[in-house]
Amino acid sequence: MEKRVIEILKNTGALLEGHFILSSGLHSSNYVQCAKAFEYPEYGGEIGALIAKEVSEAGLNIDVVVGPALGGVIVAYEVGKNLKARAIFTEREENVMKLRRGFEINEGEKVLIVEDVVTTGKSTFEVVDVVESYGGKVVGFASIINRSGKENPFAEKTNGKPYFYLVKFDFPTYNPDDCPLCKSGIPAVKPGSRKMNTK
Ligand code: ZN
Repeated sequence: MEKRVIEILKNTGALLEGHFILSSGLHSSNYVQCAKAFEYPEYGGEIGALIAKEVSEAGLNIDVVVGPALGGVIVAYEVGKNLKARAIFTEREENVMKLRRGFEINEGEKVLIVEDVVTTGKSTFEVVDVVESYGGKVVGFASIINRSGKENPFAEKTNGKPYFYLVKFDFPTYNPDDCPLCKSGIPAVKPGSRKMNTK
């Protein structure tokens, strides 16, 4: 499964190899832009189905799938479709995560929180607060990619709630002063720039 997911990410240009300047200013030989995988709905659908399969096989019943905007919106939709659950999203308003657009979670509903990539898990924890403020019950977490460096970055603060992911990446990052890729003379590119796309 992991092999297939990596194949999809590479085929769609969601996973790039080269020499990149990350938004943090650090350099890396890899860059992931999950949105690219959803540029092709058949691949996006496949990814959603794979996550849903993991969740069902673990015996979880889900009423609502919630993803934080923007990264979690389509993933939540595709996972929700396969779990036959509702799919909604949270978004920030004046920097506070909330449900808008008439979305609601009913008291006691079982909720799966879904992201595209989990790094620190910060936005996911903000979604937990939103779900609980409605009386919803978070029963698990899921993402396409786990970049947290941990098996389950949510376990500790959520009493061991399960976390499902399709692939785990642990790409090394470098300071520009001490980057082996810079030293080897490979030009560094900022992901998303036009220069990169025409390369
Ligand atoms: Zn570099």
